[in-house]
Amino acid sequence: MNPNEIDIHKELKKYFGFSQFKGLQEQVIKTLLRKENTFVIMPTGGGKSLCYQLPALIQEGTAIVVSPLIALMKNQVDAIRSLSSENGIAHVLNSSLTKTEITQVKKDITSGLTKLLYVAPESLTKEDYVNFLKNVTISFVAIDEAHCISEWGHDFRPEYRNLKHIIKQLGDVPIIGLTATATPKVQEDILKNLDMTDATTFKASFNRPNLYYEVRTKTKNIESDIIRFIKQHKGKSGIIYCLSRKKVEAIAEVLQVNGISAVPYHAGLDAKTRAKHQDMFLMEDVDVVVATIAFGMGIDKPDVRFVIHHDIPKSLESYYQETGRAGRDGGEGHCLAYYSYKDVEKLEKFLSGKPVAEQEIGFALLQEVVAYAETSMSRRKFLLHYFGEEFDDVNGEGADMDDNVRNPKAKVEAKEQVVK
Ligand code: ADP
Ligand code: MG
Repeated sequence: MNPNEIDIHKELKKYFGFSQFKGLQEQVIKTLLRKENTFVIMPTGGGKSLCYQLPALIQEGTAIVVSPLIALMKNQVDAIRSLSSENGIAHVLNSSLTKTEITQVKKDITSGLTKLLYVAPESLTKEDYVNFLKNVTISFVAIDEAHCISEWGHDFRPEYRNLKHIIKQLGDVPIIGLTATATPKVQEDILKNLDMTDATTFKASFNRPNLYYEVRTKTKNIESDIIRFIKQHKGKSGIIYCLSRKKVEAIAEVLQVNGISAVPYHAGLDAKTRAKHQDMFLMEDVDVVVATIAFGMGIDKPDVRFVIHHDIPKSLESYYQETGRAGRDGGEGHCLAYYSYKDVEKLEKFLSGKPVAEQEIGFALLQEVVAYAETSMSRRKFLLHYFGEEFDDVNGEGADMDDNVRNPKAKVEAKEQVVK
């Protein structure tokens, strides 16, 4: 079909039931339908999946979608199947399939039934799969979570590095890369590694005007400080991130003892307990989940009212992702981080046991966190600048939503001098 003849609004309504595109979706889709390489940078929840799902559904051939997590792929396949009467419209290709299942997948692709084929990057290295895909019609390749290709991202997957080599074997197919990781360094890595510096890039703003950013100095009274904070937000949902499992357990217990309904969450708990605690939080049987960074991926609770960092995060990227879980519904979201230089030294010590290249990146990322914690400028401006975005800290949306803007440091000091 000629892309100019497709009424994509009609198709959007038909497949997804939405009457409007969100943000940059329409431009992205039009670009991809013109067979151009496309690069999409949008915050989590921005609606990136639809940018490749809709073009896949309305074009001839099969779109290959590379995604790092089997659970995410399964969710998406189920969602796409629910839009159609044909199960074969979407498939996952991975190592867990039986021979019979693989035969069925191949049959559905060859017959033109399958519009979306989700694959893990490691499956794409299998010669048998690549040889098969070389001989069928591929509409385009989508690389979701494309930051996994970069060591500067928060989730480096070495297998992503082979993707370009494999895609080249499939012939001249357009690529769409998508990520919520906005730092210029990561973006550059993605374009270079996928060999698509010619790509048309679409970048949405990362500003979250309803989030309030605050940094407090970490003292030995941190626990009572946190308890006071939570009691001021009585009955509200919140997440507290800690660096270690031990700390998670300790803080959860302290909160419980003080009458706050809280559960721990970390990778050391068995899968059943983790699922139970996550559900309790989602169903509002508890107010607070105390967690390591193992918690949060794919969690979509719209009314999280605060995210507290008991320990500083390892990068500003992680900080943005973790605090981004607050205020998804556009309502209040208080992001409070406790900062002490001792914690920085702890993280540095931890890094010094790692390979040299990883160490250097780790130190550099950490320095940015330190600069953020110690800055006296608008925290929002600082964060957005880190993501390559200029923010007007006078008139921009959410300009007064941080501690530095509300209580400028210079003034506080001046007042202290007067008091003395
Ligand atoms: P991302 O991958 O960018 O984090 P998703 O693709 O998971 O975001 O989409 C986030 C949510 O936005 C989903 O619930 C999706 O159904 C919804 N969504 C996407 N596009 C639209 C649209 N045009 N209109 C309304 N809702 C949309
Ligand atoms: Mg996504």
